[in-house]
Amino acid sequence: MTYRGVVLDVDGTVVRGDDPIPGAAEGVDRLAAAGLRRLFVSNNPTKRPRAYVSRLGDAGFDVTPDEVVTAGSVTTDFLADEHPDDSLYVIGAPSLVDQFEDAGLAVVEDAAAADVVVASIDHRFDYDVLCEALWALSDDDVRFVGTDPDMVIPAAERDVPGSGAVIHAVSGVAGRDPDRVLGKPSAETQRVVLDRLDVPPAECLVVGDRLDTDIALGERAGMTTVLVRTGVTDDRTLRESDVTPDYVLDSLGDVGRVLDD
Ligand SMILES: [Mg+2]
Repeated sequence: MTYRGVVLDVDGTVVRGDDPIPGAAEGVDRLAAAGLRRLFVSNNPTKRPRAYVSRLGDAGFDVTPDEVVTAGSVTTDFLADEHPDDSLYVIGAPSLVDQFEDAGLAVVEDAAAADVVVASIDHRFDYDVLCEALWALSDDDVRFVGTDPDMVIPAAERDVPGSGAVIHAVSGVAGRDPDRVLGKPSAETQRVVLDRLDVPPAECLVVGDRLDTDIALGERAGMTTVLVRTGVTDDRTLRESDVTPDYVLDSLGDVGRVLDD
C-alpha cells in the first residue's frame, strides 16, 4: 500500500512534555523520506497552532503553522462558520477566549446573554460557573458546544481532568448532550484534516496513542490506523476496547513497518 498523507498525534506520540519520544524523530524522518504530506493534530484546545510550532521546534521537529491543527483551531473555525454573529459564554482557558476574539467572535461574561455555551478545560471551573451554564442551557435555543472529548489529560506527575470532564459536568446538570464536541474524532476535525492534506482517506495514515480519539478518527474517516505504545494506551485498554487499530507499534520509530507492508 502506498500512502500519501499522515495525521500525527502530538502528545504521547511525538513528544512527552517538552521532550521528544524515543524513536519519534526517526519515524518523522521516515515519513518525510516516503514523501507523505503530514499534519500534527492535537486535542489541546488552549494552545494555538503557532505555539505547537515552537514546542515541537524545541523538541527538534521542524514544523510550519499550516502543518498543525488543534481542537482550539477547529472549534474557532466551527464557531466562525456556524455562529458568526452569536454571543458565546465560554467555560475555558483565557487562551481559548483569545483565539475566539481574534477570529472576531463575541464572548460575553453574562451567561444569560449567551446564544452558545462553549465548554472546555478550565482551571477556574467551579460551582458558580456550573450554575450559570445550567441556567443558560435551560433555554433550548441556546446551543451547547464542547472543544474536545478528552476526559483526562496527562500532566507532569499524573493525569488531570480535561475538557471532557467539564463538558460532562455541564451536560449532567443541564440534562442534555452537547450539540457538538469538536477535536478528534469529530466529523469537523476529519473534514479539516482531509481538506488540509488534500489526500483521499484511503491513502492516509493516522498515528496516535489514544484509541477513542486518534484511532477512532482514522477509523471513522476510512484511514489506516496506527496505535503507538508510547502514550496512554496499555495492553488491557487495547484488549477491552471495541476500537481496533490496523497496526500497533512500540513507537513511531517503527512506522517503516507500516510503509513497507
Ligand atoms: Mg496523544
